[in-house]
Amino acid sequence: MTAVILDGKLVASAVKKQVAHDAERLSKSGTKPFLATVQVGDDPASASYLKAKHKAAAEVGIQSEHHHLTADAGQAKLETLLTQLNTNPRIHGILLQLPLPDGYDEDSIIERIIPYKDVDGLHPINAGRLAAGKEVLVPCTPKGIIRLLSHYKIPISGRHTVIINRTTLVGRPLANLFLNRDATVTVCHSKTTNLSQTTKEADILVSAVGRESFQITPGLVKPSATVVDVGLTRVNGKLRGDIDFDEVKNTAGFLTPVPGGVGPMTVACLLENTVQAAKLQTGTG
Ligand code: NAP
Repeated sequence: MTAVILDGKLVASAVKKQVAHDAERLSKSGTKPFLATVQVGDDPASASYLKAKHKAAAEVGIQSEHHHLTADAGQAKLETLLTQLNTNPRIHGILLQLPLPDGYDEDSIIERIIPYKDVDGLHPINAGRLAAGKEVLVPCTPKGIIRLLSHYKIPISGRHTVIINRTTLVGRPLANLFLNRDATVTVCHSKTTNLSQTTKEADILVSAVGRESFQITPGLVKPSATVVDVGLTRVNGKLRGDIDFDEVKNTAGFLTPVPGGVGPMTVACLLENTVQAAKLQTGTG
């Protein structure tokens, strides 16, 4: 058996087409969706992710601007910038590229972003809404994963879903999205004992670890399971996911590639969140 490959590029382009349509409609009614991004420090991976996000925004008719602070700019300067972006009526979405360099209080900075401009869905108000079953601005990677599964009509209700990650960016919001869709959810992390036993029980397995020493091999996967690869790591300069793709494709029923799986869906959902934020702020959503 060879798994059906979940083509994130293809599905992301369909999402972007709809976003472009919505952005055009909003522009015609006088609201030009606008995304502001903020980077602190010079992490090259962050810079390249941001470049891709600005390019994708331009492609769908979302205006964008970038703000770059040096790593030593300090908490107060970053907070001042976020306050300016919060109060600028032209700007609908604010994306703070994470992680921040050492010395910043990330949680308090995230709380500085006004919830209805929080296109990353990380503000405790948006995270709390999601945990309470209300999906307003939802983190882009988990949202993208659900979109991808829905596109391929992969059933979620009643399925045992195992997520290896418990961060606020990936694992926690994804667990809530699955729960909202009636899955039975298990969340694993670095202190989980007997991880392989748990992963083998998963109808849907999502791995978001991103460590060179960590890999999901076929023995950890239930035959015909849906396997989603989020983790990214560089091995000898080459980008690699958490899943041993060439081997697991002979066990899984559905499988995402790296690259071309979750990554493009994350970007597409950021654009969608930006348009959604513009609608929320203009009362047209
Ligand atoms: P992170 O903060 O490093 O979190 C990694 C998670 O994996 C933590 O929950 C950690 O557990 C768990 N973990 C680490 N080693 C483990 C092990 N041996 N067994 C089981 N669990 C283990 O990273 P993140 O920001 O959540 O992102 C996760 C990965 O996804 C990264 O590789 C990132 O680059 C990638 N990512 C990709 C996209 C995309 O669009 N493709 C988007 C976002 C993130 P503890 O909580 O116990 O430490």
